[in-house]
Order: sequence, then structure tokens, then C-alpha cells
Amino acid sequence: MIRSPSLTEQPWLQHGFGTRHTPPWPGRIATLRQTHSDLIWTVRQAEGCLGDGDALISAEPGLLLTIRTADCVPILLADPIRRVVAAVHAGWRGTVAGIAALTVERMRSEYGTNPGDVLAAVGPSIGPCCFEIGEEVPLPRQNRKADLWAANRKQLEAVGVGLVWVAEACTMCNEPMFYSYRRGKDTGRMVSAIGVLE
Ligand SMILES: [Zn+2]
Repeated sequence: MIRSPSLTEQPWLQHGFGTRHTPPWPGRIATLRQTHSDLIWTVRQAEGCLGDGDALISAEPGLLLTIRTADCVPILLADPIRRVVAAVHAGWRGTVAGIAALTVERMRSEYGTNPGDVLAAVGPSIGPCCFEIGEEVPLPRQNRKADLWAANRKQLEAVGVGLVWVAEACTMCNEPMFYSYRRGKDTGRMVSAIGVLE
């Protein structure tokens, strides 16, 4: 399990970025059928798989918001003032769609979050060392390397998020620790989670 120092300091929440060794999260879980969209769910009473989408927001004590990844970027957000948390699945398409920034915006509109209060953590994913944009994106040859960590950091800072922590751990480079969709061989997914404690 990998944890962000700033989120670990918050006594009212639990969080972690799963590795291939992380056991299943216990308790009440909310999850989505992830579709590389910019669909965001705000969760109050519900739990289980809620439907299609790629980000979850909740202030509900005792509920864990979960995201499954194996190269895409898991992003966890917390507003310590309003005690609201969010879990975001940002692959290449989600990053281009601005899903992390849109989630902060939704926290603001639905829970009154001031983006400057938000603590953000960008978890392990395929790094700039290994990620090349597919042929479907029209770019000059030499510009095919992409940095999803920097893109999401920039995006969060642009909407006013005060603190962005980046794990800087590449899933493709570190086989003992992480699953990697692009590396292939094993096809597992790692589960990252965040939730308000009861
Ligand atoms: Zn790498």
C-alpha cells in the first residue's frame, strides 16, 4: 500500500493506493464500471457498483470510494474543511477530458469545497519513462512520450488545488510491486480507496 503524507495526516479519513500485494478493502465499498469517461458520481447512501463512470465523491462516513487501475492514474482528493473525499480514474482519455479538475469543480458545486483547501494525491501509474500516446492521437513523432503525472498536477493546480502530491511510481517499470496492463502477462488490477471514517 502506498499512502500520501498529507492525506495520512488527516485523522478523519482513510486512504491508500493499492499494489499487487494489497488485500481486498474491508467494509462498505462504492465502485463504478470504469469507461474512460468524465462521468462523476456523488454518493450518499448507496454502495456497491453504482454504474458507468470514472470518479466518485462522498462525505458519507464509513463508505470507501474505490478505483481500479493497472497503468491509468488513480487520484485521491480530500477537503479537510467540508470533510469530503473523491476517487478518480484518470487514464489518457480521462486526463485529456480533465476529469480530475471536473471532480474538484463538482466538490465545489455540490459540497461547497474551496479548491484551495483540497489535498490531492496522484498515485502509481504508467510513468513518462514508459508511456507513449497511441497512433490515434495526431502528434509529431518525437512528442509521443506523455507525462500523465505532470498533466494531472498541472490540471489540479490550474483549478486552484493547494497541495498536489505525486507518488512518481511507474507501474510498468516495477513489476514486483504493480500490475501493468501494457506490460501484459498478468492482468490484475490494483484497488485504491479513500473514505471518511465513521
Ligand atoms: Zn516506467
